[in-house]
Amino acid sequence: MDHLWAPWRMDFIKGEGPTGCIFCTLPAQGKDRESLIVHRGKQAYIILNKFPYNNGHLMIVPTLHVADYLAVPDAVLTEMNALTKLATRALNEKLKPHGFNIGMNLGAAAGAGVKEHLHVHVLPRWNGDTNFLPVLADTKCMPQHLLESYDGLQPWFASNA
Ligand SMILES: [Zn+2]
Repeated sequence: MDHLWAPWRMDFIKGEGPTGCIFCTLPAQGKDRESLIVHRGKQAYIILNKFPYNNGHLMIVPTLHVADYLAVPDAVLTEMNALTKLATRALNEKLKPHGFNIGMNLGAAAGAGVKEHLHVHVLPRWNGDTNFLPVLADTKCMPQHLLESYDGLQPWFASNA
């Protein structure tokens, strides 16, 4: 993940961001397409990363506001595991990546962007993506690109989850 260079992430790094926790605010708004929430479970949901490292970058987020992995109830971790598998299946079927990075960045020292509310990254990878990403990168295209990703993936979850 460290090897990917995604210039649109500068908006995230420079942006002030909304007040409060984004992972608590977005699901509460009830505008799932706008928020890029592709699937809701009971205690966790799946959302497209608005500042992706790669096309189809999904995140599994517990509805519980928690930073400490050791404080997450087992039932929530179990559902997050199930949703991680579901997200991986969706990406395999819809985007056919060559590989994945799956995991959590816990704490600022580990590179967490939103460090107060933990989440699992499911990042699809393609052979050579570290080479072509900088060439294709265009920050102006990202919002449209994200909605296309959303509309490509959300129906899969609606019929397979
Ligand atoms: Zn939160």
